[in-house]
Amino acid sequence: METLTNCPVCNSSSFTPFVECTDYTVSKDKFKIVQCTCGFRFTNPRPEEAEAGKYYQSEDYISHSNTKKGIVNSLYQVARKFTLKRKLKLVTKVSGKQSGDLLDLGCGTGEFLNTCKENGWNVQGIEPSPDARAFASKQYGLTVHEVNKWDQFNDKLFDVVSAWHVLEHVYQLEETAKQVKRILKPDGTFIVALPNCSSADADFYKQFWAAYDVPRHIWHFTPADVKRFFEKQGFLLKEVLPMSLDAYYICMLSEKYKGGNINYGRAAIHGWASNSQAAKTGTTFSSQIYILKPVA
Ligand SMILES: [Zn+2]
Repeated sequence: METLTNCPVCNSSSFTPFVECTDYTVSKDKFKIVQCTCGFRFTNPRPEEAEAGKYYQSEDYISHSNTKKGIVNSLYQVARKFTLKRKLKLVTKVSGKQSGDLLDLGCGTGEFLNTCKENGWNVQGIEPSPDARAFASKQYGLTVHEVNKWDQFNDKLFDVVSAWHVLEHVYQLEETAKQVKRILKPDGTFIVALPNCSSADADFYKQFWAAYDVPRHIWHFTPADVKRFFEKQGFLLKEVLPMSLDAYYICMLSEKYKGGNINYGRAAIHGWASNSQAAKTGTTFSSQIYILKPVA
């Protein structure tokens, strides 16, 4: 295990215990989340980066992907197709471009990249899992790189860099932000999707909130943390957008962690309640998309 001594957002070394959570999906071990004086929360201590891989050894993380059997899987395929289309639309809208160069961080088996490619974008990905990289390359003919090989990318190369529920897993958070800033064009866009631990469903489920997902999630952002962290790294937060479906999914899992099996009715009610409350503020959805632009 590794203990962080300084907050990546404000550099303070003064933390207080926030909550202790169980890893329900893989190890069943308990992990502590601390809160810095600035408000930022992170898993501390956390597995060493070299040890982190073993906490991903679960069916759930071997991308629910590519078998097309059964009703649940069919629904999943339909939902995924819908989500991919929406992501592509968002890329076009927030970048103001119909095509260009796009890099997806943590691209998994490459479905999002493939959707972009089919619609005229020039795409590349970065992905730590060798199996996922091989699949993306074989299935879709994508170029997918290993992690931490930033040198291969020239400055000001990309119109869009995306990270869909990825940065909460990334050990080199500051280095990643710096490199994205470097490789983005001056008018480029960084699209970041993250769970939001200041949402109503996080407040309600507390240690059972599924999006704490320790120890795979090492950072637990609120919108205020996102703004402060990325401003420090030379980005401007332009817009915050909801991912409304995530509240239902997270509430379903949280019900399972809390009660042993899923109470779908209660999950639906809490998902709906979280979304309705968030609709009033605009920035407290269970999961959100942050549109960041590099500052000159
Ligand atoms: Zn701090």
